[in-house]
Amino acid sequence: MNICIIGPQASGKGTQATRIAGHYGIFHFSTGDALRAEVKSGSELGRELAAVMNAGKLVSDELIYGIVKKTAGEHPEGILLDGYPRTVHQGEMMKDELKIDAVIEIAIADETCVARISSRYMCSDCGRGYNTVSLPPKNEGVCDDDGAALVQREDDKPKAVLKRLALYHEATAPVIEFYRAAGVPVHKVDGEQSIDEVFAAAKQAIGG
Ligand SMILES: [Zn+2]
Repeated sequence: MNICIIGPQASGKGTQATRIAGHYGIFHFSTGDALRAEVKSGSELGRELAAVMNAGKLVSDELIYGIVKKTAGEHPEGILLDGYPRTVHQGEMMKDELKIDAVIEIAIADETCVARISSRYMCSDCGRGYNTVSLPPKNEGVCDDDGAALVQREDDKPKAVLKRLALYHEATAPVIEFYRAAGVPVHKVDGEQSIDEVFAAAKQAIGG
């Protein structure tokens, strides 16, 4: 069984992907991890990738698909694609070779995404991470370890999060439509629930 999981940042997608893959006994494929592993392996493909990335260029759809295909070939039990395909073009590239049995979309409101991400802070000195909601420092605004000021990464500020979300919606909506049109079951799961509830809903949607 091959499953594709889609969701914005801070939707809990990675956590759910790990749990779903574990439950169904399929391989969890995360694009970023797979690229790093391929480079590390020193394979021909890995060397090609390293050259592209070291030059600061974007990895082409062809190269990424090469890794997806290779990984799928190594895992006949099935694969859970986490964050792939990102575009309709990527979906079209694999449609004749890798059949997707179900798509899980983890949906959260944009405001939830902004709230979850913009509560992240880090120490300006040691880099320790905090979360003003779930992991606050003992004293507001300063690091527990060294008392240095906590700062927010530019990327975690609401404006930056909203900009990425707009790009996500723009790219993802057509991917979901692409699968729907191809007759693949697309299950939208409410990502505002607890981790256990989201997992239960995803399992129920997939079945088994
Ligand atoms: Zn610190």
